Amino acid sequence: MTTTIQSKLPNVGTTIFSIMSQLSIQNEAINLGQGYPDFDPDRKLIELVNQAMLDGYNQYPQLAGYKDLLTGISEKIQKLYGHVYSPETEITVTSGATEALMSSILALCGSGDEVIIIEPFYDLYLPAVQLAGATPVVVSMDPPTTTDNNYRINWDKVRDAISSRTRLIILNTPHNPTTMVLKDADLNELESIVNKYGIHIISDEVYEHIVFGDNKHLSMCSRPALANKSVVISSFGKTYHVTGWKIGYCAAPQHLMTEIRKVHQFAVFTVSTPMQVALSHFVNNPSTYENLSSFYEEKKNYLADQLQQHTPLKPYSSEGSFFLLASYSDYSDLNEYDFCHWLTTKHRVTTIPLSAFYCSPTAKTSNHGLIRLCFAKDIKTLDEAVNRLKSL
Ligand code: PMP
Ligand code: GLN
Repeated sequence: MTTTIQSKLPNVGTTIFSIMSQLSIQNEAINLGQGYPDFDPDRKLIELVNQAMLDGYNQYPQLAGYKDLLTGISEKIQKLYGHVYSPETEITVTSGATEALMSSILALCGSGDEVIIIEPFYDLYLPAVQLAGATPVVVSMDPPTTTDNNYRINWDKVRDAISSRTRLIILNTPHNPTTMVLKDADLNELESIVNKYGIHIISDEVYEHIVFGDNKHLSMCSRPALANKSVVISSFGKTYHVTGWKIGYCAAPQHLMTEIRKVHQFAVFTVSTPMQVALSHFVNNPSTYENLSSFYEEKKNYLADQLQQHTPLKPYSSEGSFFLLASYSDYSDLNEYDFCHWLTTKHRVTTIPLSAFYCSPTAKTSNHGLIRLCFAKDIKTLDEAVNRLKSL
């Protein structure tokens, strides 16, 4: 007798980032698709990992994280956003922001609950809510207009989507893929929603140190009323150019963190010790993150100018993250996935279709002639990519 396995995620395939990176390798393309830096982290950080290993930090740390790292995270958050989280009970070091998101979502919602997700959205949110057994309720962002050149959350639409079953809203600022950064006015709206309906927030803030122009990162924990309802998530991968280390954290009020830790302990138990020891020396030192925005702004401006001058791709302005969107709609009628596929195979530059961040990537309503490019690259990589795109 054979038994059949019922898929928990019947509509999920391999992530777009893996698909496009694989295609990129096969075509020897320049990969501006998947978001990762093509340069090394600070050598000092690598030396600190080596030193930690030599000093004997090679066994399990505490379940929630290495003590000095938890303390450092707590002090940093207090310094930057004014909220005090207890390192003992309110912060957990996780296997990347990915595990922080998955553990939080699994812990905080379940069957019968609804969770609001803002579309376009980072790919993990929807399947994580489904795995938790909750129902995703998708609210579309308003697209850019002639007077406002970025996507925005329409809070009236969010209010309309709330029901007595709504438990959570998942937010992301700076936003991947649109680059939108939440403003004070957004937090005002959110505060009134949270006060009225009592829903909780999962706030994905992995690009907290990468914001451009006059934009400022407004953490969910910068306002007491929001902090009391939020899980705030970040990633050392983005801040220290170490996406492959897979290390991040979440911070939340104790009653939420108690539940999150129950999932975390059985998903991964804890996270690599020498990495945590090394990061504990960096985390609370402003010189390790305060120039990150200007560092990336230069790359963002460079790529946007070059695309504008030398290619038919029209870059959108980027408010934060290490991405920018560009429109090809004056140039080609292909849908976004086909355009990205063609760009990789024919011009050997890999990008990500924006439609991949929608519930129905192939639908006409999810295809607007837009691609996402990652500028977290050496200038010579960006130069070579633009050179190849000149032939468009
Ligand atoms: N959230 C967003 C918005 C991201 O862009 C990413 C990955 N780039 C993650 C979460 C996952 O972060 P990590 O690599 O630390 O798991
Ligand atoms: N977050 C990265 C991006 O948006 C990719 C991470 C991954 O491949 N899972 O490109």
